[in-house]
Amino acid sequence: MANPVLPSSGVLSPLGLDAVHISPGFWGDRVALNREVTIAHCQEWEEREGWIPNFRGERPRRGREFSDSEIYKLLEAMAWADHPSLPALAETVAQAQEGDGYINTRWSGSRYTDFEWGHELYCYGHLIQAGVARLRMHGEDRLTQVAVRAADHVCRRFMEGTETCGHPVIEMALVELYRVTGTERYLEMARRFVERRGLPALADIPFGRAYYQDDMPVRQAQVFRGHVVRALYLASGVVDVAVETGDEELLKAVEAQWERTIARRTHLTGGMGSRHIDESFGEDYELPPDRAYNETCASIASIMLAHRLLLATGDGRYADLAERTLYNMIATGVALDGRSFFYANPLQVRVPAEPLEGVNHAAEGGLRSPWFDVSCCPNNIARTLASLPAYLATSSADGIQIHHHTPAEIRHGDLAVRVETGYPWDGAVTVRVLEDGEGRISLRVPAWATDATLAHGGTVRGVTPGYAVADGPWRAGDEIRLELPMAPRWTFPGRRIDALRGSAALERGPLVYCAESVADEPPLGDITARVSPPVEHHADGVVELEVQASLGAGDPGGWPYGAAQDGRPSGADVGLRLVPYHRWGNRGPATMRVWLPIL
Ligand SMILES: [Zn+2]
Repeated sequence: MANPVLPSSGVLSPLGLDAVHISPGFWGDRVALNREVTIAHCQEWEEREGWIPNFRGERPRRGREFSDSEIYKLLEAMAWADHPSLPALAETVAQAQEGDGYINTRWSGSRYTDFEWGHELYCYGHLIQAGVARLRMHGEDRLTQVAVRAADHVCRRFMEGTETCGHPVIEMALVELYRVTGTERYLEMARRFVERRGLPALADIPFGRAYYQDDMPVRQAQVFRGHVVRALYLASGVVDVAVETGDEELLKAVEAQWERTIARRTHLTGGMGSRHIDESFGEDYELPPDRAYNETCASIASIMLAHRLLLATGDGRYADLAERTLYNMIATGVALDGRSFFYANPLQVRVPAEPLEGVNHAAEGGLRSPWFDVSCCPNNIARTLASLPAYLATSSADGIQIHHHTPAEIRHGDLAVRVETGYPWDGAVTVRVLEDGEGRISLRVPAWATDATLAHGGTVRGVTPGYAVADGPWRAGDEIRLELPMAPRWTFPGRRIDALRGSAALERGPLVYCAESVADEPPLGDITARVSPPVEHHADGVVELEVQASLGAGDPGGWPYGAAQDGRPSGADVGLRLVPYHRWGNRGPATMRVWLPIL
């Protein structure tokens, strides 16, 4: 089965790229663009920046100590996309592998001297994930041989002892390699890496051991903390270990950490991370829109984790978060032309960014960049979009579940259906049965869809958030139609989120909206919005929203605190256009805000 995550047990089983064929549509178009443009874009930059030449032995070596991992992520993307460039790139990588399976262009000759920052095991993790993707899509070849030899080297070197890596990812990679090969030592190695963490296993650092989740054992933690990508990659690996070893307590620990993180440490867009200095979550309710970090990779890690928890538990709330994150983070992370990327994804930008043609040396999120010094996000986007169809639907003994509504054909067992929809712009989702068959078809109803209906077999009934189900037997041509309510809705922050008090945001379907101002459009620094039903504008297949807002009279200057409460800014109301957050920054340098001050 062509799937990045294939647990041996769980409430739901994933359907892979062999069962789900995505068609043109919101996601189908992005998957195609990724295959045709983004993958080659990443390879060009990795050549240009010297990261691929490092594997050819070109010196001086260029790139950060973990740049090998970017080539591995790209190889994973190529594997899922069945991209013709894979064999040659895999051959280049293979040249750098040493006799005992060790491979790393930075640390060759000084192996394993820096577990805190060296990223050697992290790099293996991405190599192994690429190898798993290739094994499942194609079968054994040069890339899978390199990955398996590296994994065997890791098991020999690290099975005994107390060492682990400052950056998790190898845990989930080894479990997946166990799943595809049946070789138990990979699972055991992953389990030991998980259990070693927090004993502690790593040195203290100025950021503190929480930065790399080494402050306490995984089982004792109450919430995800520290560096977001590290925390969520680790949690994904922990779920994998828990599922494969039947460790219910370990799984429950991650579920509880997820609950608290969603309740207190997640932005409206599904983004996670409020601190730039160490790319970390920040404290509970520390969710400032302008200083939000929300690394694109963190949102990818969040989807990886949510998908694993969905498979293990069948709880649709995990798919709800994945959807929020897909539409507002993944779709935002890459430009409409597939050639530039956001690293950080704040919810407010006060000053337009300077356009940049070359490598961006920072991660700040004002304009998408073609490349970064640390280019984790572009490659991570590439591998995620390449494998995206595998996240859309699942199966169980009684039928199939469609979690994400986008045009696709799904075949599993006795069921063959085609999903037709203009979602997220339109709320109608039609599932057309292609062949006679049996089984239950379940369609996810997102938490915000409190007034949805399902038409099936000549009846229409109301359905509540969770899953709407329709039972066969089916005849070719039968149709199920889910109608999700798409009226725009105002969303207000919980009062404990200090940075958002006195503001509101607009959502429509799964999309978060934002005000954007380019060039001579009205500035957004002192607007106040009226909380009234917005006007919808449908143009070029996109829905924009217009709200009434008063613009301020300009900055009065002086001491910005006083004895009287600030009032509503003077000035006539104007129509303020809001665009889907994922589309912002495509018109040139702009200011932007998701949360609008209200009175
Ligand atoms: Zn990243």
